[in-house]
Amino acid sequence: MGLVGAGTRLAQMSRSSSQQVAVIGAGVIGLSVAWELATSGLGVTVVDPAPGSGASGVAAGMLAAVTEAHFTEPDLAGANVLSLSLWPGYASRLEAASGMVVGLERAGTLVVAGDPSDRDALAQLGRFVNSIGLEAEWIGARELRRREPLLSPNLTGALFAPGDYSVNNRSLHAALLAACKTAGVDFVQEAASGVATSDATAIGVTISGGELIAAEWVVVAAGAWTAGISGLPLSLTSALRPIKGHILRLSPTERAGPLPLLSHTVRGLVNGRPVYLVPRADRELVLGATSEERGFDLRKEAGSVGDLLQDARAVLPAIDHCELTEIGVGLRPGSFDNAPVVGRVGPRGLVAACGHYRNGILLAPLTAELVADEILGNSRHSIPSFLPSRLVERKNPALQEGGLG
Ligand SMILES: Cc1cc2nc3c(=O)[nH]c(=O)nc-3n(C[C@H](O)[C@H](O)[C@H](O)COP(=O)(O)OP(=O)(O)OC[C@H]3O[C@@H](n4cnc5c(N)ncnc54)[C@H](O)[C@@H]3O)c2cc1C
Repeated sequence: MGLVGAGTRLAQMSRSSSQQVAVIGAGVIGLSVAWELATSGLGVTVVDPAPGSGASGVAAGMLAAVTEAHFTEPDLAGANVLSLSLWPGYASRLEAASGMVVGLERAGTLVVAGDPSDRDALAQLGRFVNSIGLEAEWIGARELRRREPLLSPNLTGALFAPGDYSVNNRSLHAALLAACKTAGVDFVQEAASGVATSDATAIGVTISGGELIAAEWVVVAAGAWTAGISGLPLSLTSALRPIKGHILRLSPTERAGPLPLLSHTVRGLVNGRPVYLVPRADRELVLGATSEERGFDLRKEAGSVGDLLQDARAVLPAIDHCELTEIGVGLRPGSFDNAPVVGRVGPRGLVAACGHYRNGILLAPLTAELVADEILGNSRHSIPSFLPSRLVERKNPALQEGGLG
């Protein structure tokens, strides 16, 4: 297949570079990559039939590097912390480039405890995050009540993580779209059917009708739908899975109490299920989220909504007096080991930026830099646990194939 011919168009030409990149997917990951590449002087075309319709438009927007840290995932915790450190500068640059506010909230996060076993679990988390140099401190019931007077009186204290911010994910997506357009990114509102290759080299993206968007680099960032794109190695497609999440948006009525209902993001464990409440500047509360292995099922189920409301009510009784303005369902793009897949994979010129699971909003600035470094030959960061090479190292006899994996 030739680079230019009938049914072929070139990815956006940049003024200063002949390098052209096609990005599949316009969620927060695809757009953050596109913006980084375009501002580095590359010509970028983003292919997506419905930008923002995936998990990025549904998420809560927590930048939860500390409160999502887990003993079994120290490398992922380190990458999350690195990306969190990029966020303040990233948000400022994006707001300047887009002329829009992204809603970065810096009050920090409280993980609340009910019974003694909650306190033990949180004390353990506190010791772990402190041991890897992260800030988190225990605060007792009285101080918790002072900071958040409307929380349930049954709560006995909380772990406070001052560095765990949040961002309004929808404002973020809108700002990235605007910044990309200002930076000259071209948008093709079609579904990509596959990555086109010639001589084991990616030469662009095919869209419906067989048209080719020709490019020297292809970045695949189609979230939970990545595995459905043809031309990707089996090692990648077999490593990905969707994880369904129900999430609610609530707006306080005048009966709910003094506003704002919350000043911090509040997380907790109720009935063995995690629940969180993320306050927005406009008083909206985002209440999440379930985690369900249901394939590509996007139906809104009454039981999941009921569980979320019941658990949130145990933390913040005032939610009884909020208007339920939205029931959302999204698919987290999960991977076999919960870490993203970022780097070169399969044919030459193909770069993966997928599998961000529950932290894709948090990891957007770091992912953009990693992909740009890969394409431009720089090395600002090294995150071995994100590399696609780990996919072929998996003990899976079905994965007998060559290439970079
Ligand atoms: C309920 C819930 C709560 C969450 N909360 C948080 C949180 O608090 N903090 C956090 O950091 N993360 C959170 N996440 C995770 C986060 O939303 C994801 O990790 C992140 O949005 C992934 O971004 P993405 O761009 O890779 O995928 P998506 O946002 O899913 O975007 C994928 C894009 O690809 C497009 N696409 C699909 N198929 C094709 C195709 N064939 N051709 C072209 N384009 C295609 C889609 O239209 C879509 O626009 C949450 C997720 C869920 C579901």
